[in-house]
Order: sequence, then structure tokens, then C-alpha cells
Amino acid sequence: PEKVSIKELAEKMKMQPSVIIKKLFMAGQVSTVNTELTYEEAENIAIEYDIICEKEVPVDVIEELLKEDEDAAETLKKRPPVVCVMGHVDHGKTSLLDAIRKTSVTDREAGGITQRIGAYTVSVNDQKITFLDTPGHEAFTAMRMRGANSTDIAVLVVAADDGVMPQTVEAINHAKAAEVEIIVAVNKIDKPNANIDKVKQEMTEYGLISTDWGGTTEFVPVSAKSGEGIEDLLETIILTADILELKANPDRMARGLVLEARLDKGRGPVANVLVQKGTLHVGDFISAGASSGKVRAMVDDKGNKLKEARPSQPVEILGLSDVPNAGEVFLGHETDKEAKQYANTYLQQHKKDLIEETKAKMSLDDLYSK
Ligand code: GDP
Ligand code: MG
Repeated sequence: PEKVSIKELAEKMKMQPSVIIKKLFMAGQVSTVNTELTYEEAENIAIEYDIICEKEVPVDVIEELLKEDEDAAETLKKRPPVVCVMGHVDHGKTSLLDAIRKTSVTDREAGGITQRIGAYTVSVNDQKITFLDTPGHEAFTAMRMRGANSTDIAVLVVAADDGVMPQTVEAINHAKAAEVEIIVAVNKIDKPNANIDKVKQEMTEYGLISTDWGGTTEFVPVSAKSGEGIEDLLETIILTADILELKANPDRMARGLVLEARLDKGRGPVANVLVQKGTLHVGDFISAGASSGKVRAMVDDKGNKLKEARPSQPVEILGLSDVPNAGEVFLGHETDKEAKQYANTYLQQHKKDLIEETKAKMSLDDLYSK
């Protein structure tokens, strides 16, 4: 008789083999990914799983609710770019984010009240840029699964003494797949063996050709260590954002992404969110995944208390019932009832979503800033 391995079955069911292995274990059978099942056994698992995961709840509800309603062109207003930093491990992502953050921190703020909220905003010539600073880039991964891009521009960090490395190439592929504009920051130019032209040369292989070589990609030489070139990089981001004409309707119910969330002993669930559309106000009803609530307080990355947050603004919010997952979409709702209903429906569907999420978790951890 024909057989199927747990690995193959899991692939067919678009789920993790561990889920099946656990299930069999609970039923008293010890297995590995290579364990072969008869088609009958496999079918039983598939049927059972189907019942648990899908048949109880109309599957489409959440997806329907999450569908983007297009805002009319005349409602759109300019919004700041949202930027993520990617690149090979040790090429300087964290250092660059720190250097950029420092340029924007005033003496008053340097006193220690700035806080990490998964993203921060800097001002350049009165224009704002939001940098995602999310550990492990969970938001970036999850948002791609939900088809909601959080990022407009990817700063691809390449060390000038090391050149293009495997994770540089992966980062390029991800940025291209997400249709994100790439700016190359050639880092560590303070090093004696830095070779900017070599980086430019290597990048041509991936279709990224420097503007001074007749291409369309901006290469900005920087040193996260000395601070050289950081201003140039920020100006290049602003120019790129202008060309992209990034817009959102600020006058509607808020919608955005959860960047990070945690349980704070004193304050309850704390979520760091990025507003993408609309304006989020203190007092608004919201849902995020299986949690819902009313925004009790908002704080920005400089520690300022806010009454409202606008498109591309990252804020920390209090008032959710539970800790949502990073990467979850948050939505504003007209009523408390609607927010709760959404969260409940999500919860019922959660098992299915969990499988999807595990499925899509890739080994991206080193690609993004941590
Ligand atoms: P990440 O893994 O991409 O986040 O890289 P890090 O920011 O942790 O940097 C890796 C190492 O490179 C650290 O030892 C940094 O101090 C060093 N580094 C980062 N940027 C520069 C730079 O511009 N010049 C020099 N000389 N060293 C740097
Ligand atoms: Mg790092």
C-alpha cells in the first residue's frame, strides 16, 4: 500500500510537522518527520484537523474585515516614509540605527527618557522619517503574510570592507518581493580596507546599479562609527520618499500594525504600534488579533504623552485586553461591541492562523535589525 511521510503530509496540509507529531504523541504513537503513515492514517489526521481548524468558524470573516478599503484620492495627505534596515549580520544594522537615532535626540531627550518602542521618528529639515527598530523583524515577516506592507524604503547595509554576502542577497530578494525601494548604505567607510567601488560592482549583479554609474539605486557611503554620511543618508531617504509620493488618509478610523507587545506588571498589556492609515486617538476602540479594548494612553518614542497618532507614527498604547502578536493588524472600531466581536472571531479562528504563521516563519532573523 502507498504511504506518505509526516513531512509530506504536513506540507500538503500547509502546517508544521511538529503539530502532527504532537497529535500522534497524544494518541500514544511516537513518530518523527520521516515516519510513514498509511493513506488511511493520513486521511484521518487531515479530516480531524479540518474539523478542529476550519469547520467551526466561517474562515473568511477576519480576512474580509482586514481587506483594505481604498481611500478616495482627495482624502490622501502626505505621510512620512517608514524605513527598515536590512543586511548581512555584523555589517552594522544596529550601529546604524543607533547612529541615526543619536542625530535626532536632543540634549533634553538624551537625559534618558527616550524609550524603545519598536520604531522611532527622526526629523530632517522639518520632514519626518520613521525607522523600524523591531527586534527580529517579526512585524516585517508577518505583515508580508497579511499582504500589508509596513515598509516603504529598505536601507540595505553593506560593509565596505566585506562586500556583498549571502544575507545581503537574501535581503535584496525580500525587499524586491515586498516591492520596497532600496537604498544602499555602504557602511564602515572609516576602515582602511573599505572599498566602496567593489560594493557597487558586486551589487550590479543583482540589478542594483549606482546612480553615478548610470543606474537608479542610491548608494550612500556611511560610517555608523564616526557618523560620517549619516546626514546624507537621511537626506537621500527624504528625496526618495518625495519621489514615492507616500500618502494616507488621516481622517478615518485608524489602522496599522503591532510592532511589539508585552505584558507590563503595572500597566497591563502594552503594544507598540505603527499607525498606517487614519488617526488613532486616546479613547478609540481598537482590536488587534484576539485582543480588543479602548486606548487608555499613548506615548511616543521620545516619551511624550500623546492624544492622537497619525499615519506613519509609531506609538506605545495602553488599554488592550490581551497581548497581541507582533505583526498583527490593529483596527479602530466605532463601538466597543464591534471591537470585541472582531477579537472573538479572531480567537475562534486563531488555531488556523497560528499554523499559517508558523508556516511562514522563515530564517530571516539575521536579516533585520535586532
Ligand atoms: P549588525 O549585526 O548588522 O546589527 O551589526 P552591528 O551594528 O552589531 O555591528 C557589528 C560590528 O561592526 C560591531 O562591532 C560594530 O561596532 C562594528 N561597526 C558597525 N558599524 C561600523 C562602522 O561604521 N565602522 C566600524 N569601524 N565598525 C563598525
Ligand atoms: Mg544587530
